[in-house]
Amino acid sequence: MNMQVLFLGTGTSQGVPVIGCNCLVCSSNNIKDKRLRTSLLIKIDEHVILIDIGPDFRCQMLTSNNSIIDSILLTHQHRDHTAGLDDLRPIYYLNKKQINIYGENNVLKSISQDFKYLFDGPDYPGKPDINLNIISNRSFRISDIVINPIRVLHYKLPILGYRIGDLSYITDANYISKEEKTKILGSKVLIINALQRAPHISHYNLEQSLKLIEELAPEKAYLTHVSHNLGLYDDLKTELPKNVFLAYDHLEFSI
Ligand SMILES: [Zn+2]
Ligand SMILES: [Zn+2]
Ligand SMILES: [Zn+2]
Repeated sequence: MNMQVLFLGTGTSQGVPVIGCNCLVCSSNNIKDKRLRTSLLIKIDEHVILIDIGPDFRCQMLTSNNSIIDSILLTHQHRDHTAGLDDLRPIYYLNKKQINIYGENNVLKSISQDFKYLFDGPDYPGKPDINLNIISNRSFRISDIVINPIRVLHYKLPILGYRIGDLSYITDANYISKEEKTKILGSKVLIINALQRAPHISHYNLEQSLKLIEELAPEKAYLTHVSHNLGLYDDLKTELPKNVFLAYDHLEFSI
């Protein structure tokens, strides 16, 4: 299984720069310090899977030159992970292919309320064909691809990360049980959220993420869902362990 992975966004809910902020990171000219809201695009054997579809989705599709989405895996219902759903319309109009969204029952309920006109109600000209698939914390398939959900906690909210082959993707977490950690073990690449240096109520901070990476021992780890409080990309680069990288928008790799 060959997987092409592209970070469409690596920023926390407000993005970086933050509106009106003049801090060192927000005023940096380094393109790697500019972060759209967190989202990942994965291509596996001609199948295009998106993890989360935040408010920057339109912009991310335009700048990455992508116009196909077959499936979307949702981690949770927060707006920085779902607000781009409205912009699926041109993708459907172009490809005329049903788009499948996968998420837990409470997540799909939440987006069905927020985007009522996309999912229920009468058909109308231009209504995109989007199919909602309820998943639980059990493995499932998208065609031949096995997807393994991973239960993590986002403060008190149980949400999902995903393992696909040798890749594990966790965002917005600050707790993973021993049992769920075993699902991640053996991943070649772990993508994990690291919000900032200071502790936070619902996200791992840098220290916690690094500790988890050491424990789970992937070959490589990428930090995502980053806020302006984490620091400059260039500073972090010199500080991180050899196998840990601060992700940035447009970063691509294959496994
Ligand atoms: Zn988030
Ligand atoms: Zn700032
Ligand atoms: Zn969240």
